[in-house]
Amino acid sequence: MRPPQVLREGTKKTVFVNFMDLCKTMHRQPEHVMMFLLAEMGTSGSLDGQQRLVIKGRFAPKNFEAILRRYINEYVICNGCKSPDTILSKENRLFFLRCEQCGSSRSVAPIKAGFVAQVGRRKAGT
Ligand SMILES: [Zn+2]
Repeated sequence: MRPPQVLREGTKKTVFVNFMDLCKTMHRQPEHVMMFLLAEMGTSGSLDGQQRLVIKGRFAPKNFEAILRRYINEYVICNGCKSPDTILSKENRLFFLRCEQCGSSRSVAPIKAGFVAQVGRRKAGT
């Protein structure tokens, strides 16, 4: 996976330039990745007109890398065969990770709810 490309915007914001690209590489919904990132960073943010993720606060590329690595371990990689070829599906408010390679399936931890409200679940993607 390519490293996150991060810019500083002014003194109070950080722009994650290739956020969408990385979501595509991981085959995950940007809304889900965004929720995780923001919850882990304890901040708020949104996508701008160029589909870049603009985050409140100052963060270094290595912060993003560490969080994305955690995301991949939790929500992308199969525990059984370590394949990233998996599908994340939602059933009865729970997320399940199903592996396309070995067929195994496991439930994954829900993203901490505290920060989701700030992001506005319904507004995501608009
Ligand atoms: Zn597997």
